[in-house]
Amino acid sequence: MTSAEQISVRTNFFDTKIEFLKGMGPQRAALLNQELGIFTYGDLLQHYPFRHEDRTIFHRISQLSELMPAAQIKGRLREWTLVGEGNKKRLVAQFSDGSGILELVWFQGINYFEKSLRPNTEYIVYGKPVAFGSKWSITHPEIELLTAENEKGGYWQPVYPLTEKLRRRFIDSKVIGKLIRSLLEISKPHIHETLPENLVQKYRMVTKADALWNLHNPQSQPWLHQSERRLKFEELFYNQFRLIKNKLLHKTEYPGQIFTKTALLREFYENHLPFELTGAQVRVLHEIREDLKTGKQMNRLLQGDVGSGKTIVAFITMLLALDNDAQACLMAPTEILTDQHYQGLKKFADLLGINIGKLTGSTKKKEREIIHAQLLDGSMQILVGTHALIEDIVQFKNLGLCVIDEQHRFGVAQRSKLWAKNKYTSPHMLVMTATPIPRTLAMTLYGDLDISAIDELPAGRKPIKTVHRYDAHRLSVFGFIRDEIAKGRQIYMVYPLIEESEKLDLKDLMDGYESISRAFPDVPLSILHGKMKPKDKDFEMARFVKAETKIMVATTVIEVGVNVPNASVMIVENAERFGLSQLHQLRGRVGRGAEQSYCILITDYKISKETKLRLETMCRTNDGFEIAEVDLQLRGPGDISGTQQSGLMDLLIANLAQDGEILKAARISAEAILNTDPDLESPENAPIKKHLSNMRKEETNWSRIS
Ligand code: ADP
Ligand code: MG
Repeated sequence: MTSAEQISVRTNFFDTKIEFLKGMGPQRAALLNQELGIFTYGDLLQHYPFRHEDRTIFHRISQLSELMPAAQIKGRLREWTLVGEGNKKRLVAQFSDGSGILELVWFQGINYFEKSLRPNTEYIVYGKPVAFGSKWSITHPEIELLTAENEKGGYWQPVYPLTEKLRRRFIDSKVIGKLIRSLLEISKPHIHETLPENLVQKYRMVTKADALWNLHNPQSQPWLHQSERRLKFEELFYNQFRLIKNKLLHKTEYPGQIFTKTALLREFYENHLPFELTGAQVRVLHEIREDLKTGKQMNRLLQGDVGSGKTIVAFITMLLALDNDAQACLMAPTEILTDQHYQGLKKFADLLGINIGKLTGSTKKKEREIIHAQLLDGSMQILVGTHALIEDIVQFKNLGLCVIDEQHRFGVAQRSKLWAKNKYTSPHMLVMTATPIPRTLAMTLYGDLDISAIDELPAGRKPIKTVHRYDAHRLSVFGFIRDEIAKGRQIYMVYPLIEESEKLDLKDLMDGYESISRAFPDVPLSILHGKMKPKDKDFEMARFVKAETKIMVATTVIEVGVNVPNASVMIVENAERFGLSQLHQLRGRVGRGAEQSYCILITDYKISKETKLRLETMCRTNDGFEIAEVDLQLRGPGDISGTQQSGLMDLLIANLAQDGEILKAARISAEAILNTDPDLESPENAPIKKHLSNMRKEETNWSRIS
């Protein structure tokens, strides 16, 4: 760093410590540091409100209703008294606006309010009104003196993320809003436009300065809306800009092995392919083969619904690697899934004389050593494993392809560890999602990858019929099970398993197992749960696969990948306790053979509206892409499995469930700029260049702190 740059870092206005802000004081600054991670002016301006409360109107006490989430009332504080003892002790004040009386109640901060409230004085109060008989009351209202400034109302109150400790020290949204507004006043000359003028024009956005001002201090709802849209666009634009830039950089900087020879591949196609590939599989394989000819490292995401046939695509891609003197590996998230992949691929591998191995946490030391040696000398061509295979000790002679089958996302860190397994040329990467994820999520989570989708199921599959049944109809469900077993089919019966209450759930499972054994005394059953030893699990699974047992009573350990084509009924107990994508995953365990398959979702009579929507969605459609969209709308992006680990999801203001259109526009804009002016040399794009370099400085500052 040159000394000029050092000075510019040090003197950047937004790096100023918040202690120096007028009205802040060292104690509050320390609390904001500690509780919210706000250290600098920049941090404080980016502490965005998560909603705004309507303070434009005043309510009359006579017009209050229990239905109001909150009310704002202007009136006079009369007197107050202390009532009750111990933790029931409270301060109760009488407040009136001429139309009625309202009680204000405090259980906490009694001393403070006793000292600071002024009797017979006008205040504005805000909070949730509750009726006790004919009396209205608000507990822990917001309260402030009526002033010339606030008596007209007419504003929207930003509500900021806070912590309990901050509230106890009387740092609420009002206080934070005030601090931010005073910061905004002095920031004006320092806030620069971060987007090129032509984009601001094209999408009719407000300026950065206006957007910040109005987000923290909105004058009207349309203004607020415009400001949010502008800041969301900016956030998503830079998110996409970086991802696409990485992707492009990648393509120029990382060479990849060229795979053009196809001996094994042709032999497999001509002599061993067990079925005709679907059009979608053929298309995706074509996309992959094009990548492997370019001499650049492939980074491709393969999206496809449960049962769409991603595995065979992965296997054929592996053959290409082997044909060109390279090795391939497949990493799966669990031992059971790893084992299934291994068993499945081994059948093909044996036909072709390929040496394939399996490595998991429970592989014995001796076996492990053999695998290590064979990988190193190149005699082992394919390795299937859990994340045990990213350990440093696992070294290849020439790893050419990594396939990752993701139940939840392995982090970027793990992906890059796989890259490093070839010192000379990074292996090609094929990442498969276990279930489809919505487009907006794919774009932000995997925006640095090329995306292929298998959007077609193999021919002849009958769509699974899904129904919802209440507990009380269990007998008819049992009758149905009996009929299906008589037809030679097998049944899954799944119980929820949630970690915190594992004991209780295991009891549910055992109770269920017992009631089924009583109902079907002559039917052989299997049981499978996470507390069993791997050996016992394998044993039970094997019996079910061989159809020695007819009903598999299990927790969600069977969720991922398991493939038993003769199983045609999936019964989910306590279905209300599963998320949509999990239900879809579970349902994907059936419908794998030629027979008509069924999924029965069982719940209690009492279910929430959201649960109802989940169940209706499941009954309506088998399309994983559609289900993923509904899931995103219901739960928000933070809860979709796998997104939490990803740093890419640290969005401050954009919401991927709602902002799909903004994201698309931001991505198109970023792409266009990177295609025409990758080094940001045109004066038009100068704001981007400047902003990126500021963001980088911020990051280095952070890395120094943490
Ligand atoms: P997923 O995409 O969920 O990983 P799999 O690769 O496990 O799906 O495939 C599901 C089942 O469909 C397997 O039994 C597989 O052999 C079979 N399958 C895959 N492709 C086809 C096809 N083109 N025609 C018929 N069956 C197929
Ligand atoms: Mg699979």
